[in-house]
Amino acid sequence: MLDKTRREPCRKLLIKGTQLAAGRHAGEIVDILIARGKIADVAPHIDAADAEVLDGNQTLASPGFVDGHRHLWQTNLRGMLADTVLADYYRGVRVGYATAYTPDDVYVSTYAGAVDALRDGVTTVLDHCHIINSPEHADAAANALKDAGIRAIFCYGFYAPPIKNPVFRERQDRYRDVGRMRRDFFPSDDGLITLGAALTEQWLVPEDVTADEVRTARDLNLRNVTLHVGANPAKTDIERFRCTGCFGPTFTYSHCNSCQAAFFKFAAETGGAVVSTPETELGMGMGFPSTNKALEAGARFGLGIDIVSFGNGDMLTTTRLALQTARALHCQPSVLAGKMPESSGYTTKDALAWATSGDAVGLTDKIGSIETGKHADVVLFKTDRLNLSPLSNPATAIVMHARSSDIDTVIVGGQLRVKDGELVGVDIKGLLPKLEQSKRSIVERVRQARSEQSDMGQAYETLIAGKP
Ligand SMILES: [Zn+2]
Repeated sequence: MLDKTRREPCRKLLIKGTQLAAGRHAGEIVDILIARGKIADVAPHIDAADAEVLDGNQTLASPGFVDGHRHLWQTNLRGMLADTVLADYYRGVRVGYATAYTPDDVYVSTYAGAVDALRDGVTTVLDHCHIINSPEHADAAANALKDAGIRAIFCYGFYAPPIKNPVFRERQDRYRDVGRMRRDFFPSDDGLITLGAALTEQWLVPEDVTADEVRTARDLNLRNVTLHVGANPAKTDIERFRCTGCFGPTFTYSHCNSCQAAFFKFAAETGGAVVSTPETELGMGMGFPSTNKALEAGARFGLGIDIVSFGNGDMLTTTRLALQTARALHCQPSVLAGKMPESSGYTTKDALAWATSGDAVGLTDKIGSIETGKHADVVLFKTDRLNLSPLSNPATAIVMHARSSDIDTVIVGGQLRVKDGELVGVDIKGLLPKLEQSKRSIVERVRQARSEQSDMGQAYETLIAGKP
């Protein structure tokens, strides 16, 4: 699936005459020079005879989208959970389909999800990969991310799907395996893909397991740790986080819908980040997005897709949902008091920053803006379109009116991943039947194995029933 020409050393790229969508110079027409994977210069006029020139006329240049919470392995289940709530998802996916993936299923799903995300302008994804049923599953996911050419934080999941004869017999086996990944795949944090950890949800495991998982991540000096928090009504036990002693700036908490103010205060004080995935949260009965609560507490904040087994993989949709829901929540006290709101609380510029800054995954030193020295993750939107005319201010144009079909160019680390609206070096025709076949075989394997009860299945049933 990988076009070997994409592994050639980076050429210089020169984007001529594009309009900056964000940052101090938003609205200005500039040239952007990219060399050695980074932004070498941003100026009104740049000459670089040795660079490949991209015509930026009638485009907006935005930092790439940063998806702070996605399970890429579920790409082959696209839409299968579209009319379900979270309880159905737990029963259908976490204790169902998750038991039936082969390493090949993980590869094809992760690869397809990653290139699909690239096509929609996502240049960085935090892949919460809780489908690691063997070392080969881990290798498949990591290789798929590398082959796709997206910037990714591969968060190795410690969650153990209830498999009858598991390869990992005890949880320490996973700790050893993530150590192997650190040693063999990700010895440093300098590459396009870096290693993180995804903890088992605290509503599924006792405190000592959470502590062990945190310790494992810390011992490996992982730059990112993520976990689901407050996606269901189960009480979030902040004390458990406190007692592990190292929940801090490496942490990205996803969802957090049912969390109270004390949690957001804790997250902000310890330097943690919150990621909301409005489409799944609004649609699957998780509660309203945590945007307002996280921002008011001063926590770092970002957005994510979560699962295309439920909803859309397009960050434009997600960003709009996040903005309008945050505005609705902001205005609701006035509405209930019978008063006209004085403001909507949040701007399109705010929303573009949530979607592109990289703040929620701890990457603001590398990405999130188009300025000299940053890694070159750039998206060009074509503006000579009816839906963008006449052109409003750039953030508004992107957040309110752009469609993913307006995305013409996507650059990750200085490499062209989308050109003229098409993925570069991706055999889409060859990929589609593999996705279809993968889905069919998983569904069939689950159908055959459905009869067994499991401890994990029981843990979920207890949670769904609302018992302590
Ligand atoms: Zn999730």
